[in-house]
Amino acid sequence: MNTEVYLDNNASTSVANDVKDYVCSNLSSFGNPSSHHHYGYISRKTVELSRKISADYLCCRESEIVFTSGGTESIGSSFSCALETREEKRTIIISSVEHAAVFSQQQQFIDRGHHDIVVPVDGDGRLDLNFFEKACKEHPGAFVSMIYANNETGVIFPVKKIVQIAKEQGALVHIDAVQAVGKLTVNVKEIDCDYLSLSAHKFYGLKGSGILYIKDGAPVCPLIPGHQEKGRRGGTENAIGIQAMGEALKFIMNKTTVDMKRMKSLRDNFESLVLEKLPETKINGMESDRLCNTSSLTFIGLDAAQLVVMLSRQGIYVSAGAACTNDGQPSHVLVAMGRTEKEAASTIRMSLSVMTTLEEITAASNILCQTVSQLESFGIGA
Ligand code: PLP
Repeated sequence: MNTEVYLDNNASTSVANDVKDYVCSNLSSFGNPSSHHHYGYISRKTVELSRKISADYLCCRESEIVFTSGGTESIGSSFSCALETREEKRTIIISSVEHAAVFSQQQQFIDRGHHDIVVPVDGDGRLDLNFFEKACKEHPGAFVSMIYANNETGVIFPVKKIVQIAKEQGALVHIDAVQAVGKLTVNVKEIDCDYLSLSAHKFYGLKGSGILYIKDGAPVCPLIPGHQEKGRRGGTENAIGIQAMGEALKFIMNKTTVDMKRMKSLRDNFESLVLEKLPETKINGMESDRLCNTSSLTFIGLDAAQLVVMLSRQGIYVSAGAACTNDGQPSHVLVAMGRTEKEAASTIRMSLSVMTTLEEITAASNILCQTVSQLESFGIGA
């Protein structure tokens, strides 16, 4: 195989070279950050340095940063903080295109008697803001959890507006910013949410580390009790993962709008090449504000799972929907956007990184178009 093009960065990015170098040269700082000796102090110092970088990145105080194992834990912890800290039940308001990690939390709390409202999106993945506002007004003091940028389609939600509407009705708000980091500005002071989740393996860091931002004064109820992280997340800190996450944040903070524009132009180029050769292709969320790196493509009548395998054999790595919900079920995101189950089963997602090149995009689009045409000529459908 000559060509290898990795276009599944919304599932996991590669680890940035700066991060790899940092990790390799710091593996000997193995001390437990809670130990009161030389090795413990070294570990603590580097963890706290990462906290400072994280706070600078998010524009918040260091005291508002809690290190976790990643997006799923941060989301779970935000639910716990908002819903376990008062006697009366809060209504949970989420959108119909949240990540699976949010839906599992929502289900858990519904099973325990909480009430929920799921806000619909339109055919291009845009949140129905009128429905949302009405829901917030009818359920003051609710807990709102909303995705910043969709992992499957890249559609961006107007999070500042969402928080403003929710706060007017006394809601607590969590923002799932897992896919936004490295592609959009994530400034919690501007967004003004109470909680916000991040995951390092989506922005060139290591798996197993993430952040939960908890606004000073917001209710706290740890998912994992323990003395670490000022009682907000128990368990020995994943010191090397946290340090690597600091390096990854430095890496993305060095990226400019020029890098983002470059990624967008490569993504747009890819879509144009595909549409030129396969004009029947549908691009999901095309009319919406989308992440600069994501493309969700429907090849009507084709089996996306098979296409992914065939592309993988040729060195092109993409996903059929979200990596974490590849359970044979049609994508709930696409179904929420009004696609049929068959259309959802004919959809692949490609997602670029800041390292993706024009040569890679050209090679990937050629191989993709050839493979789709082959499958069509064999009549292999979804
Ligand atoms: N939220 C979004 C939008 C995601 O895309 C993901 C992962 O794909 C998660 C949450 C879960 O993050 P993690 O893989 O770190 O648990």
